[in-house]
Amino acid sequence: MVKQFEAEVVIIGAGITGTTIARELSRYKVETVVVEKSMDVGIQGQTKASGGMIYTGLVMLMSFIVKSMIAPDSPLYDPDSQKIKWLEQGFDMAPQWLEELDIKHRRLITLVIATNNEEVKALESLLKLGERIGGRYASPRWADRNACLEMEPYLTKDVIVGLFSEGDVIEVTPWELAIAQSENAKQNGVTFMLNTQVTGVSQNNGYQLVETTQGPIKTRFIVNAAGILIDKVSDMGGARDWNLTFIRNLFLVLDKRVGRLVHTNLCLPPRQGKGPICVSTLDGNLMVNTGGYMMPRDRYDLGAYPGEGLKNLIEAKKYVPEISEKDVIHTFAGMRVFNTRDPEENIIEPSSTNPRFINAAVRLPGIIPAVPIARYVVKLLGDAGLELVTKSDFNPYHKAIPRFRDLSDSERSRLIAQDSRYGHVICSCETVTEGEIVEAIKRGARTVAGVRYATRAGMGRCQGEFCSPHVVSILARELNIPVTAIMESSVGALVMPFES
Ligand SMILES: Cc1cc2nc3c(=O)[nH]c(=O)nc-3n(C[C@H](O)[C@H](O)[C@H](O)COP(=O)(O)OP(=O)(O)OC[C@H]3O[C@@H](n4cnc5c(N)ncnc54)[C@H](O)[C@@H]3O)c2cc1C
Repeated sequence: MVKQFEAEVVIIGAGITGTTIARELSRYKVETVVVEKSMDVGIQGQTKASGGMIYTGLVMLMSFIVKSMIAPDSPLYDPDSQKIKWLEQGFDMAPQWLEELDIKHRRLITLVIATNNEEVKALESLLKLGERIGGRYASPRWADRNACLEMEPYLTKDVIVGLFSEGDVIEVTPWELAIAQSENAKQNGVTFMLNTQVTGVSQNNGYQLVETTQGPIKTRFIVNAAGILIDKVSDMGGARDWNLTFIRNLFLVLDKRVGRLVHTNLCLPPRQGKGPICVSTLDGNLMVNTGGYMMPRDRYDLGAYPGEGLKNLIEAKKYVPEISEKDVIHTFAGMRVFNTRDPEENIIEPSSTNPRFINAAVRLPGIIPAVPIARYVVKLLGDAGLELVTKSDFNPYHKAIPRFRDLSDSERSRLIAQDSRYGHVICSCETVTEGEIVEAIKRGARTVAGVRYATRAGMGRCQGEFCSPHVVSILARELNIPVTAIMESSVGALVMPFES
């Protein structure tokens, strides 16, 4: 007999949107289940491929300019639009959010450079736009050639001038946020059903039945946060008056050897789909993003085409000449999602035929506004009849797995004295210890990819060539299942990211 589960609210999708809603809902006495088709949280959708920038000010100004190129008839900046309100609130809420969840982050300087007269003019327009809007958008200042080279000593000597602003970009590792939120939501009573795909939704005597690959879930409310598959899940639940369009973005990850070459969020003035050049990541790699927007073949078009990465690298070398093709250790594509009803807005609303089925179709950027959007979804659930009684024992705090690589010698010694497995390095590229891997498994990692994203084991120069077999055997040992089962699920997790 198929087991039937029950919950007051079912959230579909455990990316940044689903996990933030789950955490916000866990402040209340509500029985919540999150259903995710992947075996691990936050590592299969857009969240995994995100640039991980929480920004306002100068970077947001650049996105207004890009928008004016794509949609010349809509206002450049509309302070009353829901999207802008959520983005500004989200940026302001970020410090507390990251603090509570113990998320590694840092503030960055954004430097937008000009290497020809046309780009100088573009910088002037950017500055004027910022002054016209005022407030947080009036932060950019000029940096002359010397100041640019002082900020970025490895920058091309062709730089003429730059615009910079300080502190209005917070860099995070995006999937860490989703993982931390799922752990915090679990601490506060939310159930996560992983490796569970939603296949249908039906109505039954005032209840809804969410059909999944692990059996049906009887529920009163559904929140659809299925990312690039949100239209498909929405169709299962009833009427949908919008479609999705997709834009593909290719990123190159460069070895830590060259991380020192860039210190700022280094950008060119916005052109259609272009702006960023590269940025060093929190863990010291360089991330190159010179490819601009590309129309994908379809929403599953996430691989790199032959030569595509190299073309982007050659473009980046024009600005940071010391980087080389030998430094590329990983290439991946991300899929940006827009709805056709109003590509400028998010669709966060109940389905027109079913007030208890809420769609959370987030357009980019989706990490910045995640908390205000989640709070709005909770309000919509309340409006639709969900009783929201606050929990007196809600705990907003989450503790990250110790990052051995970031600790001082004395902190390392203390950790090893508590648990000798922290003295056994498994991934030598990223200095990840057995203790961290075991802790990630205790917290829910189930595949090699899950361990990789939770700890960085396998994210270094060799891309897991040396440590993967060790990670497989630790997974098998800790979960008490055969090595072959781990290999099967790990391969599945890596090769079927968006199977619908
Ligand atoms: C290249 C790129 C760069 C970006 N850069 C930034 C940035 O710098 N800053 C920023 O704020 N935003 C950025 N974004 C946008 C941001 O990453 C997304 O808006 C956000 O991650 C969307 O999260 P989500 O949870 O809605 O979707 P996803 O992360 O895609 O999560 C959806 C989840 O639903 C699951 N799912 C789907 N169908 C089913 C089903 N039938 N059953 C069960 N589970 C299902 C999927 O497996 C997935 O885990 C970027 C996006 C891209 C692509």
